[in-house]
Amino acid sequence: MGSTIYCHVIYHEAGETMVIQVNAELMNKRSAEALVEWLGSFGRTGKGGVTRLLYTKSWKEAQQALKNLMEENGLPAYYDCIGNLFGRLQGTETPGRTILTGSHIDTVIEGGKYDGAYGIIASFIAVLRLAEKYGPPKKSIEVVSLCEEEGSRFPLTFWGSRNITGSYDLDCVKDVKDSDGMSFMEAMKEAGFNPQDYSPPIRNDIDSFVEIHIEQGMTLERNGKQLGVVSHISGQRRYTVLIKGESNHAGTTPMPYRKDALTTAARFITFLTEQAGETDPHLVATVGRLTVRPNVSNVIAGEVEFTLDIRHHQEPVIDSFCHTIFKELKQLSVNMNTEAFVSLWMDAKPVKMDSGIGQLAMELSLEKSILCQKMISGAGHDSQIFGQKYPACLLFVPSQGGISHSPEEFTKSNDLEAGIDLLTDVLHKLAY
Ligand SMILES: [Zn+2]
Repeated sequence: MGSTIYCHVIYHEAGETMVIQVNAELMNKRSAEALVEWLGSFGRTGKGGVTRLLYTKSWKEAQQALKNLMEENGLPAYYDCIGNLFGRLQGTETPGRTILTGSHIDTVIEGGKYDGAYGIIASFIAVLRLAEKYGPPKKSIEVVSLCEEEGSRFPLTFWGSRNITGSYDLDCVKDVKDSDGMSFMEAMKEAGFNPQDYSPPIRNDIDSFVEIHIEQGMTLERNGKQLGVVSHISGQRRYTVLIKGESNHAGTTPMPYRKDALTTAARFITFLTEQAGETDPHLVATVGRLTVRPNVSNVIAGEVEFTLDIRHHQEPVIDSFCHTIFKELKQLSVNMNTEAFVSLWMDAKPVKMDSGIGQLAMELSLEKSILCQKMISGAGHDSQIFGQKYPACLLFVPSQGGISHSPEEFTKSNDLEAGIDLLTDVLHKLAY
């Protein structure tokens, strides 16, 4: 494939003096804990969290610092035209085939230092260890720091991976703005990636994608495991449900004559919650936001609107659950003299991770006596985007207390190391 697949961008500093902190001592130590801490210093907030949103100053500084780190450690690094950063270890036999490994550099607002960042650091350390121990691989390996996954600044997610797989292009962001009204294109340009230079950074040379990430749940910790091999990433369906009744006087309207939208909503939410618990252990259903109108203490609720988030790794299970609950909603509405309107606004299909690489990871962890289990990811990850186009593997390390997207995010040092250990072996099998 050579250089034709890359879309090089010169990094502009937009008149700012970039302060790149490269701590040689940390680099030499190459401990995951130290490097995660170092990367977390870019965008650190007063509350001890990390806010590193796409194309902001802290985002630029973090990407540039990683680029320097890669280059100082013998991995030539380059950006594609949207700001995904790659550090390349060139293969000797089939250099045009690439094993891509990494995660995302952006965070949520006031997030933690491990989400995304650990995956980049782990991949970086794994590749350096491989190069030191075995020399250059047969296939090329690239460490990727994906520019965006969370959707925290602009209302779109997976900008980095969706450009690489070709499911997004510049057209998708032409009307997109952040909460300050800044357009996506303007932010992109300010960060040094001029939309005028855009040409789809699609990669057709990728053999497989391997990502390691914190679990963001409690399964591993509860089961006393150090590592999770993800078999599926759950599909997600999101709905808005609107129930219309009639606002009326709370004191003068007898119970049989009411059209109480809130009671219908309450009964429906109770039903779907119980139904979710009975359907399948992996099925989750959440009503996370509810608006009552007029929301006054002495007025019967005339309208209730709420969100509904449903996840499972098998689409027929989601289909059947939705059929059951919406049938019940219809019946409830009739019984309660109210009307219900349901609108679907997100339907992300479940994605299966590559079973061959997953099996390999399970076997390698057994050899290394790393306590490991297969699991399903209820959270979305870049692996689900890559997994639709290339064989993909997603590995998890434990999250203490299941906490993520918070300054309290924490993973023990030996778990971070176990993850890197296994990732190194998986990459070795894939590329050497
Ligand atoms: Zn993440």
